[in-house]
Amino acid sequence: MERDNFEIRDQDGAGRIGELTVPRAGVTVETPALLPVVNPHMQTVEPSRLESEFGADILITNSYILYKSEDFRDEALDVGLHELLDFDGAIMTDSGSFQLAEYGEITVTTEEILRFQHDIGSDIGTPVDIPTPPDVDREQAEEELATTQERLEFAETVDVGDMLVNAPVQGSTYPDLREEAGRHAEDTSLDVFPVGAVVPLMNEYRYGDMVDVVAGAKRGLGADAPVHLFGAGHPMMFALAVAMGCDLFDSAAYALYARDGRYLTVRGTEQLDDLDYFPCSCPICANHTPEEIREEGERERERLLAEHNLHVTFEEIRTIKQAIRTGNLFELVENRARAHPAMLDGYRALGDHAAQLERTDPASKGAFFYLSGESAARPEVVRHHQRLSRLNPEGKVLLTEGNPSSRYDESWNVVPPFGPFPRALSETYPLTAEIPDRMDAAGYESAARGVARLVDENPETDFTLAHEGWPESALTLVPDAVRTVDLTTV
Ligand SMILES: [Zn+2]
Repeated sequence: MERDNFEIRDQDGAGRIGELTVPRAGVTVETPALLPVVNPHMQTVEPSRLESEFGADILITNSYILYKSEDFRDEALDVGLHELLDFDGAIMTDSGSFQLAEYGEITVTTEEILRFQHDIGSDIGTPVDIPTPPDVDREQAEEELATTQERLEFAETVDVGDMLVNAPVQGSTYPDLREEAGRHAEDTSLDVFPVGAVVPLMNEYRYGDMVDVVAGAKRGLGADAPVHLFGAGHPMMFALAVAMGCDLFDSAAYALYARDGRYLTVRGTEQLDDLDYFPCSCPICANHTPEEIREEGERERERLLAEHNLHVTFEEIRTIKQAIRTGNLFELVENRARAHPAMLDGYRALGDHAAQLERTDPASKGAFFYLSGESAARPEVVRHHQRLSRLNPEGKVLLTEGNPSSRYDESWNVVPPFGPFPRALSETYPLTAEIPDRMDAAGYESAARGVARLVDENPETDFTLAHEGWPESALTLVPDAVRTVDLTTV
């Protein structure tokens, strides 16, 4: 399906800076974007301030709460959402699917809720999908997905003017169902693609599973489909999710966490009660000590914490955008992954999908920093290895970490984690990588796999590998036909 409401400007891995055009709001939202969740009954930070002080140009609120509310329903229909919330940017509305998942039933159909969303002036509406939780049996996941798919097809037929409509992608923890759901959603005429029901994975710190679920959905969706990681509001995992190709996030966390005294950081969550110092320079943290905020009344404490939580959340989105511009999103993900073992699982799972990410990864970026064994699984390394199987050196060939030698027909460089390459390529990305002097086993092993790739493609060529003390785990990966010389012992 050709999409004219989303344009990609810059890419790094599967991460991108894009522009989501929201016609009904007359607004173009730059992605990755954060949608603060606004509860009409309980506005921790007023929407007008989200816009003016935090730079939010899109938010999300729940149309089902409005639909059921005696206080708000008529007013929302009367004056419209933008006036009700006092917000000029784009407004996305959820449909009550969350309530369905939480309480087992809701009393509205997709047609009713889509029309209601349209009538209250929502800019992006949502059908009533079935958010299937993780780990259910396959039969349940398939049945509920079929229901969601029927509702998406029905949603296509509801006349909602120029309101965009979400096409949630479900399928529980079955990557192949997520892929099928993505393909089906992609084939509808709907506009934005939330990957649904991932909140339980986040809450249990199952970032590896989250990456597999998103990777499945992304395989089904087209590369130019805007993807929303629904319910994901913790800034510690934004960089990872963006690198997988997520464009939109929504945060209820800023307010919910504030309510129980929790303080968000890009390295995880702290309890206000445990803090002696604030590791942050936002206006709240610059002007208060933790103790001062603890001494405030409950409402004020909650507001101050919520504002810090929002500041750190928006800051992370800006940090990620700049990383995409600079071409060091993977270095940022790697850095964030070091904050928690579960994040490291997420980053390692990202490495499992490197070939998928490679397709949209730019051929050239600023610099490749090798920061850990996980760097050896980056898309750039996958691409270099693919390229090695297309190169055909002939005669006697020296692959060396040291100096070239005239005793050979050709001398190629060898650099971990990439492996061998013709000397003429040594000034091209990513072979200009900054690597540590004390390389780890994963880097050497990856280089050895590169050697094997080249040798397999060129069985007639006579290869010698001159290495600087590679570990046994790497040398065993080098084909037997290759003569090896340890430069540290000659
Ligand atoms: Zn702060």
